[in-house]
Amino acid sequence: MSTDPQSESPADATNAVSPAAADAGNPLLAWGEIPDFAAIRVEQVVPAVRFTLARAEADLDALEAVADSLPIGEIVGRSEELEDRLGWTWGLVNHLNSVRTTDALRQAITDVQPEVVTFHSRLGQSEALYRAYSNAEGIADNALARTVELALRAMRHGGVGLTGDAKDQFNANQQQLAQLGMEFGNSLVDATKAWHHELTKEDEMAGAPPSLRGLMAQSAQLAGNEAATPEAGPWRLTLDPTCVMPFLENADRRDLRELIYRAWIGRAGPEGDAKLDNSDRIARILTLRKAQAQLLGFDTFADYSLDAKMAPSVADALALLASLHTSSKPAAQRELAELTDFARSEGATDALALWDVGYWARRLREARYTYSDEDLKPYFPLPRVLEGVIALVHKLFGVEIREGDRTGWHPDVRWFDVMSDGQPIAGFFLDPYSRPADKRGGAWMNELRGRSSRLAPAGHAVRTPIAYLVCNQSAPVGDNPSLMTWNEVSTLFHELGHGLQHMLTRVELLPVAGISGIEWDAVELPSQFMENWLRHPKTLASFAKHYQTSEPIPASLVERVLAASTYRAGSAFLRQIYFARLDLELHHAFDAAGGTSIWEVQRQVASENTVISPLPEDRFLCSFGHLFAGGYAAGYYSYKWAEVLSADAYAAFEEAGLDDDERIAEVGRRFRETVLALGGSVPPMEVFKRFRGREPSTDALLRHNNLG
Ligand code: ZN
Repeated sequence: MSTDPQSESPADATNAVSPAAADAGNPLLAWGEIPDFAAIRVEQVVPAVRFTLARAEADLDALEAVADSLPIGEIVGRSEELEDRLGWTWGLVNHLNSVRTTDALRQAITDVQPEVVTFHSRLGQSEALYRAYSNAEGIADNALARTVELALRAMRHGGVGLTGDAKDQFNANQQQLAQLGMEFGNSLVDATKAWHHELTKEDEMAGAPPSLRGLMAQSAQLAGNEAATPEAGPWRLTLDPTCVMPFLENADRRDLRELIYRAWIGRAGPEGDAKLDNSDRIARILTLRKAQAQLLGFDTFADYSLDAKMAPSVADALALLASLHTSSKPAAQRELAELTDFARSEGATDALALWDVGYWARRLREARYTYSDEDLKPYFPLPRVLEGVIALVHKLFGVEIREGDRTGWHPDVRWFDVMSDGQPIAGFFLDPYSRPADKRGGAWMNELRGRSSRLAPAGHAVRTPIAYLVCNQSAPVGDNPSLMTWNEVSTLFHELGHGLQHMLTRVELLPVAGISGIEWDAVELPSQFMENWLRHPKTLASFAKHYQTSEPIPASLVERVLAASTYRAGSAFLRQIYFARLDLELHHAFDAAGGTSIWEVQRQVASENTVISPLPEDRFLCSFGHLFAGGYAAGYYSYKWAEVLSADAYAAFEEAGLDDDERIAEVGRRFRETVLALGGSVPPMEVFKRFRGREPSTDALLRHNNLG
């Protein structure tokens, strides 16, 4: 039931076609602009989406009526316009739901989502547009030709070829899938928020570093215990990853590690709150996905998914995983044996349990490399890290990034202009800190708008692209800046890499500009590429300076950090292979209607791809948002697929000589003009070959991880 009076009558949608009926001051209708975030109210969401939809419907009617007589460039341009308006408003609303969610906002999105899905189905199944695209011949412009090719593929995948009952079934399934995906994500957030455990005794916090004590005391304060202090507690354990991971790695109390581990792998599972149980949703999602794929003529959802990816087939994706498995599994077994020996030598008597691995892995790492994350954090205050990555981007690609004055959706959000030859070419918002109360976990880059000449504001040749960079690193505690862990630094580099591909594109046709139109398994190339630069001592030393004394990070510490970066690489590889295999298994061989359960599939895949079997009650699939609330279904292998590309791309810089700034800049400019500039306008294998001069090889990835 909606409590929002604005959303009661679907008739609003038709009334709203007249501009007079739309609220002229609705900031969610400032299509293509950088919105006035402070002015956005939740009551404006439903009217804005309905108004935008009505406009898109009217524009599509008009376009379909003349599609047979228009040149292909004009058809593409007009659909670019209508999709952009809806993408802008709907994208903005969903962005806000990710970074500042409220119950009212969720409800508003739930109310209008079916209408948005219906419109996309209609657009994707427009016979007039499909005919016009199919009849287009001899397109000279590459970006336009690729746009048409991708549109035809997307329309075939969207069911344009279906008729009658099959089409109705397909559309009904799409609606259900959108609904189930949203429910899956919401349940996960709620289940994560619902769990907490208060610690009050000093011995329960044994081993916890000061930053974790601060974070947990802050959580207790936010939960209403204003007297909580880092020194005296109470300390609140939560399932926010910034609490779970450091606790598992540092807390001496084995029973408490077990407690939080079990809560973590049981999130949104069948043993918890029935309302938040995602297990039935998974089975329904898998069944519906297979049905959709079969309606379109594919055997399985994985076949359908791979039809639109860089990997030629499911067999090719499996072959890559199998080849990496050959090097990773024995390495992971050696790593476990080493860890077991080490734990014994430190007095552990039982076999290592799953909640012990992180703890002992951390202790062995500290013993072997004699530093801890805590030693590093003072050298990674956010302001320095930003300066460092900005300087690197300037050196490699010749662009400048400058902080500017613009208000975002939260006081912590910052704005940056991207300049090339003194001209602004793009911009981005950065939302750095974790806010578990209203912000989704993880890190991501998203688009506020893409580059386009057609959508250029009056007096400009092109509309500049704008990105959102969202991270979830530890917030500043007290007066200190946010002091970042190694992973948080690497995440920031990663997301900026995505952002650069979005922002430095030279393509001016929206559907293939920036990250748009790039095959999913190639999308992580620039992001993972940027992470590689943290392996370069000179780059690292250029910005890692102590937040109080400005002392540069000691060279011996850098040496140990880099040696540690391949620590337990076999286990890390095997974990990704496990997830990727499980994903392909569920979306390829598995039949949800057959006699096997998803848990049996998980056990079977785990038996080959883990070195300690998951607990029988492991329900991590119920929190595997990548597959069930995100876009990674039958695509999780993409992480490794793209890592091959990114490591091999970085190897081009290694071959040029990493300390030779002139040659690095040369290779950097080539990277900018190919990988970063071409966007989706050229197929990814072709883009890679233009940069590297040959097809990708796994050698660099294995060598970087001592697995070669
Ligand atoms: Zn990424």
